Amino acid sequence: MRAPDPEGGGFSRPGAQAYAAEWARAVRRIAFVPLSAAETERLLLVHTVRLGQALAAPTFSADAAEDVGRALVEAHLTEPAVLDWSVRALADRFLAWVLPVQADLSEARERIAALQGALAAGFARALRDRTFSQQERIARSAWQARDAVEQALRDSEARFRAVFTGAAIGIGIAGVDGTIIDVNQSFADMLGYRIDELREINVAALFHADDAAGLWELYQELIEGKHDSVRVEKRYHRKDGSVVWTDLAVSLIRHDDGRPRFTVAMIEDITQRYELQQRLRFQALHDPLTGLPNRTLFFETLAAVFAGAGPEQRVGLCFIDLDGFKAINDSLGHDLGDRLLKVVARRLADCVAGRGHLVARMGGDEFVVLVDSDGGLDDAVEVAELALAAVSAPMHVGDQQLAVSASIGIVECPAAETSASELMKAADTTLYWAKAEGRGRWAVYDPERSAADIARSALAAGLPAALDRGEFVVHYQPIVSLLDRSLVAVEALVRWQHPELGLIGPDRFIGLAEETGLIVQLGAWVLKQACRDAESWHRAYPRTRVIVSVNLAARQADDPAIVETVAEALQHTGLPAELLQLELTESAVMGTAGEPLRALRCLADLGIRLAIDDFGTGYSNLAYLRRLPIHCLKLAGPFVEGIRADGADDAADHRDERIVDALVRLAHALELWVTAEAVETEAQAERLRALRCDTGQGRWFGVPVPADHIRARLAG
Ligand code: C2E
Ligand code: MG
Ligand code: MG
Repeated sequence: MRAPDPEGGGFSRPGAQAYAAEWARAVRRIAFVPLSAAETERLLLVHTVRLGQALAAPTFSADAAEDVGRALVEAHLTEPAVLDWSVRALADRFLAWVLPVQADLSEARERIAALQGALAAGFARALRDRTFSQQERIARSAWQARDAVEQALRDSEARFRAVFTGAAIGIGIAGVDGTIIDVNQSFADMLGYRIDELREINVAALFHADDAAGLWELYQELIEGKHDSVRVEKRYHRKDGSVVWTDLAVSLIRHDDGRPRFTVAMIEDITQRYELQQRLRFQALHDPLTGLPNRTLFFETLAAVFAGAGPEQRVGLCFIDLDGFKAINDSLGHDLGDRLLKVVARRLADCVAGRGHLVARMGGDEFVVLVDSDGGLDDAVEVAELALAAVSAPMHVGDQQLAVSASIGIVECPAAETSASELMKAADTTLYWAKAEGRGRWAVYDPERSAADIARSALAAGLPAALDRGEFVVHYQPIVSLLDRSLVAVEALVRWQHPELGLIGPDRFIGLAEETGLIVQLGAWVLKQACRDAESWHRAYPRTRVIVSVNLAARQADDPAIVETVAEALQHTGLPAELLQLELTESAVMGTAGEPLRALRCLADLGIRLAIDDFGTGYSNLAYLRRLPIHCLKLAGPFVEGIRADGADDAADHRDERIVDALVRLAHALELWVTAEAVETEAQAERLRALRCDTGQGRWFGVPVPADHIRARLAG
């Protein structure tokens, strides 16, 4: 995030002033403020700048917000509504004003949530300290009253009574066994009893069941003299059964000889303050749109799972992302999008309800289920299945019927083998797999696959630099006449001389280069290199007329500049056009628009030859073939593989032979050459010749070799 600069850059001084002015107006509207309007605004401007600086600081700390909360109380702005407004405004107005356009929004939101929490905490603590010091004053008079209790036996019972009965705070006196001796009116009112009802009953009867054990222990410790006084926030039952949250301070009064005599308890009703704190905590930990736990609560819970995990403990996670939510949002509007998210959230919560799993919204259309997985992976998969079914059930939002699906990444493993951040990263990767495999499904994390993914992307990332550094080389594989075995052509096949991995074959990087688009530059380089080599052979041995056949990826064939690129390669190197052949696969020939590429005609017009590579593996539209400016079909390896020794009586072999026979006849009818790929044995070569294939390529005639090997062969 950007460094703060109230004068420019990060956020503007006028912006801070406008925010402070609005804050001041709101505060003055809500509460009595013992300051002038201008003083209030000045005060709040200081706080605004502090909050802005905290939000924009390179290393984040929420301490400033705690100070601001505290300062509000110190300035006597103690109304809960003041806190409420200040906390709320941070999330909407403040974020909108202070955030630079390019900032990381989700980080900013996290920071805002932390600032909200700290501000509320500072406010609550200051309020509590203030109440405490007020209570101290009362307690002092009560302790004076303790003397009064003792002295009252001698002289001034009346003075103690006045303090006791008149105090706004509840005061109760009990024996060391807990039996209530006396309480004042405030005490009785707080608990909804009459004074006389409380006398003679035991304080333990008033304890809230969940607090009873702890409270009784404290009481014992007090009586045993471990503490002189104790102070805690505890719940009590009112007579009507409702619960009151109290700030309780108990002190022990001793006999002159030190024996415990009785206890004096002072209680204050803090139910409202407690509820406000609870509400703020809920707001800070839940998503306002769906009411689900938010990512903060999710990560807190996850951290707690890891912190409390024994050696056997497993963690399971389903990371859910709606499919195509952006399209729904864009086409139907954000309002409908929000309603859809609410429905999805409710369904997800319902479908795992009662199974002890936590469902949280991570933001946008991402949800996560923290699976309580005693049953290992099966539990997580079951949750994923339920979630998929819940999301894809028919959905009506407004008057729209929507078809929604989701993809889910599942990670499940022993807690000891991972960390929260690794778990999330794995879930994210797995979600991507589920999406890539066709959406509407789940995928399970596989560390090996992830490692392969990482290696693959590392390889992809290295491609551009490899091209710059000239790490690619072109090898050439002979294509020979099946009649006399003379060298007719060579196929240019690229390899990557990787500095660490050695010589890498194209199957490992051509796909990546196609995905990243680098194939256009790489392909152009191969083309030029192949033309250069072929021209040098042609110059040295003009009578051999060896054709160089260069592969053209679909993306290259689709490139508007392809014709220019090829023409330029020919012109640059001086290779006669008829000695260049380009190989395109069937799918590349058909282009993305579903019809044959227009560029084919222009390429053919340059005078070069065009071949269809791996023919028979794509969707061969033979009707089109007739109208294309094609010169050669390269029969795919699998057909050739089916042709073994002469006379083999395997049914499959015969079928492949019949196919090759038919394809060759068809090709010849269309006046095309046929090259058989992947010829590995003499028997195959012989059969293919008998089937009237024109040329062959494969290990039997020679593997791909560097350019100078071809030159040597031509010389020989
Ligand atoms: P392809 O165009 O079908 O090339 C033929 C592949 O068959 C080559 O693999 C070759 O080494 C291999 N091969 C040779 N003899 C035999 C044999 O007897 N049996 C079998 N089974 N295979 C044999 P390579 O060099 O690994 O190339 C793989 C693919 O990578 C090529 O298939 C081509 O599609 C692509 N490729 C290679 N170089 C380039 C290039 O410069 N540009 C583009 N776009 N693609 C290329
Ligand atoms: Mg090829
Ligand atoms: Mg091929």
